[in-house]
Amino acid sequence: MAANSLRLRAGERPAVSMAETVARAGKFVEAGAALHAIDGQLLARSSAEHFDVIVVGGGQAGLSVGYHLKRLGLRFVILDANDRIGDAWRRRWDSLRLFTPARYCGLDGMRFPAAAGYFPTKDEMADFLQAYAREFDLPVRSGVRVDAVRREGDRYIVEAGQWRLEAPHVVIAAASYQQPKLPAFAADLDPSICQIHSNDYKSPRQLKPGSVLLVGAGNSGAEIAMDAVRTHKVLLSGRHPGEIPFKTNTAFAIHVAGPIIFRIVFHRLLTVDTPPGRKAKPNFVLHGGPLIRVKTRDLDAAGVTRVARVIGICDGQPLLEDGRMLAVENIVWCTGFRHGIDWVKLPVFDESGRPRQYRGVVDGEPGLYLVGLSFLHSPSSTMIHGVGRDARRVVDTIGERVRAKGAV
Ligand SMILES: Cc1cc2nc3c(=O)[nH]c(=O)nc-3n(C[C@H](O)[C@H](O)[C@H](O)COP(=O)(O)OP(=O)(O)OC[C@H]3O[C@@H](n4cnc5c(N)ncnc54)[C@H](O)[C@@H]3O)c2cc1C
Repeated sequence: MAANSLRLRAGERPAVSMAETVARAGKFVEAGAALHAIDGQLLARSSAEHFDVIVVGGGQAGLSVGYHLKRLGLRFVILDANDRIGDAWRRRWDSLRLFTPARYCGLDGMRFPAAAGYFPTKDEMADFLQAYAREFDLPVRSGVRVDAVRREGDRYIVEAGQWRLEAPHVVIAAASYQQPKLPAFAADLDPSICQIHSNDYKSPRQLKPGSVLLVGAGNSGAEIAMDAVRTHKVLLSGRHPGEIPFKTNTAFAIHVAGPIIFRIVFHRLLTVDTPPGRKAKPNFVLHGGPLIRVKTRDLDAAGVTRVARVIGICDGQPLLEDGRMLAVENIVWCTGFRHGIDWVKLPVFDESGRPRQYRGVVDGEPGLYLVGLSFLHSPSSTMIHGVGRDARRVVDTIGERVRAKGAV
């Protein structure tokens, strides 16, 4: 058909109006837009950005890795899912104060800006992390959630939405406290009971009037018990994980007992390389270690009732190990977290689901590392004062491997 036969003569109206044309083409327009979007993604994914090292997670672990990477002069980026550096801390419950004094809240190269015995609030800790990233000009990209890490030959491919990044070295610094863990039977609770995980707990205002059962008697359970008991009748269920034998806020604790516990016991004595450390590791990994600030005598004095472990649900109510059923209005699950790194699409996990690694260097992978995992090397691996040592060691390994390839 000749092209000009389609042209309208002056005064002639089209047989199909523009609006109708768009309406008729509707699903083709949508399909076109979808194709365009897929095309855009393919374009973003096919044009990958290249780095020497990609760090996933920009909390204290990722920032510590960044601090040490800076001195190697490698090209690296830190990707973090949160909108702002420090948000992992900001999201925690309103009244949270750190159980470690300021003396143990600094990171390599920067002390926490407060008197040694001051216990920072969660927001002060978050702001400190932001200041740390600024001070050392760390290349953090916020609001970027990584959804896959895989390997092609000797390069790792990191996918985050429509973005694709590549590097021969990837450090996972998002390996603890990522995915709230709940017992399967939580789903059988009577729907009239208000249930939340400690990860979502902010203050007693979220709870219904009446009683609250905290399931899990570790540090989070004990701290939330002291918060909720101001307004509610509180029952704390679970196995007692032990406690450090002194108050944390006395001069003796800050200058004598604290250094012994944090610097010696948690950092040097209990490690994967010592018999006492290997013995203590399951308790730390499964139960989070001993109570630090709130002790059983504090709970008793505040009027918190301690009850046996919850082993299931009966007629919609929590059932205790001693056979009792509890009628409560609220449950806060203080049952811990999974590491939440199932987006690492590599055969690196053991039967228990933990990545196989030694001091952060993942077995069988030429360029994959972890920092911040609970008991990566010692209890201090997941604490502020201990993470720098693991970060430095991982970065040293990266430096050695890069030099061995002759790239630096
Ligand atoms: C309630 C509570 C109180 C604590 N109090 C203390 C204390 O007083 N003293 C102490 O030393 N330690 C304390 N800890 C332990 C530890 O210091 C903190 O949990 C700390 O936040 C751990 O830092 P991190 O960098 O390893 O992980 P996080 O702070 O959890 O940071 C991980 C980051 O990774 C990002 N991320 C996760 N998945 C992805 C993904 N797929 N893609 C991109 N980014 C991702 C997250 O957005 C997050 O910013 C506490 C822990 C808890 C839970």
